[in-house]
Amino acid sequence: MGARTVVIVGGGVIGLSTAYQLALRRYGRIVILEKGRLGGGSSCRAAGITSGLLWSETGVRARKVGLQLFRELGRTLPGYTYHDEHGCLNLFSPELWPAREKLLPLYDRLGAPYRILSAAEMGRRWPALRPPGDFIGLHDPAGGFSEPPEYLSALARAAAGLGVEIHEREKAVEWVLESGRLIGVRTLLGMFRADAVVATVHAWTLPALAPLAVRPPVKHFVHQRYLSAPVSARLDFPPVNADPFGGYVRPAAGNRLLLGVETPEREDWKVDSTDFEMSGLKAPPGLRDRTVKEFRAFLPALADATWESEQVGLISFSMDGEPVLGPVAAVPGLFLGHAFHSGGFAYNPVAGLLLAEWVSEGRTSIDVSAFSPDRFAAAEAEKHLATTIPQKDAFRRRH
Ligand SMILES: Cc1cc2nc3c(=O)[nH]c(=O)nc-3n(C[C@H](O)[C@H](O)[C@H](O)COP(=O)(O)OP(=O)(O)OC[C@H]3O[C@@H](n4cnc5c(N)ncnc54)[C@H](O)[C@@H]3O)c2cc1C
Repeated sequence: MGARTVVIVGGGVIGLSTAYQLALRRYGRIVILEKGRLGGGSSCRAAGITSGLLWSETGVRARKVGLQLFRELGRTLPGYTYHDEHGCLNLFSPELWPAREKLLPLYDRLGAPYRILSAAEMGRRWPALRPPGDFIGLHDPAGGFSEPPEYLSALARAAAGLGVEIHEREKAVEWVLESGRLIGVRTLLGMFRADAVVATVHAWTLPALAPLAVRPPVKHFVHQRYLSAPVSARLDFPPVNADPFGGYVRPAAGNRLLLGVETPEREDWKVDSTDFEMSGLKAPPGLRDRTVKEFRAFLPALADATWESEQVGLISFSMDGEPVLGPVAAVPGLFLGHAFHSGGFAYNPVAGLLLAEWVSEGRTSIDVSAFSPDRFAAAEAEKHLATTIPQKDAFRRRH
């Protein structure tokens, strides 16, 4: 295709996936600039759970493609396994179910597969789980999980094998404009000229894009997950998104348990510097033990779990809950991909595909106007950014 160059700023799972998809299309020169280590933001902290049962038409359509890509990558990426053996289970109390039940006609219309299970059916199918008798399960047979470190290294190896230039510890410090068009970025080591620049800098978006006066209305919330030491029980069950217990749980490599939990009362976390590091974030004391207590009757295997690690990062929600993905009209040459709620890992293959289509073809194979960075009115966006809200007042969208 000639000598085109794209620079991708941010080497998390979204940036990597964009690079990989562009490389598959033989776009030209593809450069990733990552200020730290690949995946060192939220991506390495993710639980890696995926489901196709989302909340909007665009979301459901996009995830359908994304889950298909996960399956293909599971077959083609050496060293990576997509765990869809048990699908993904979304668990509801009778109080929480009606809001989700309203979405079933959307899933039917778009052909997103699901099955509704009673508590007894869930228990029969996965004896490790003991849901309360009046709970409802919404099972997604196409969902599943990945181990994020395994996925990140497999994808990085594949991208590098296709010629993607990966620059770690190289921060984009300046956006270079010529006659109003973005023509590249500067790092401390030099200038990278580009036909297109993709910013996949997640929680750093506002401070990073401040010089371009691009201010998407996105809020970040602290989010945490815990990994157990190997447990003795047999862990044959799907990842479970368990809103009634305020979190989620899945089996993890080495017969471990991974438990994730949100903090509904915690206010949004303002990232105001490009030097921000997620390693400085802390979970509230005692949160893990309180979460284990919440989950223990549902998953008795937790009773003998001891804990090996805690990961704390940020998840990001736009003002209308949908991702922000596509070209920015005010800055020709700039493309954004961020605000994937707590589902950026699950979105990554299709987000990469869509960004690659925008960059290489100027259009996408599915209509993603609902994700456009230009959809927010400036005054509303500023009003949203000026507020501080607890997570419970933001959109509740998991994986
Ligand atoms: C505890 C936890 C559990 C989660 N579990 C799940 C889950 O089960 N399923 C799911 O789908 N999602 C999950 N998520 C969400 C998911 O992790 C994120 O949505 C996803 O990782 C976002 O990927 P990203 O590439 O946009 O961001 P990041 O991984 O944060 O990458 C952004 C990168 O940009 C780099 N960067 C920033 N500024 C610059 C600059 N100026 N120059 C160069 N580089 C720069 C940063 O260093 C960073 O590496 C979870 C998140 C957390 C915190």
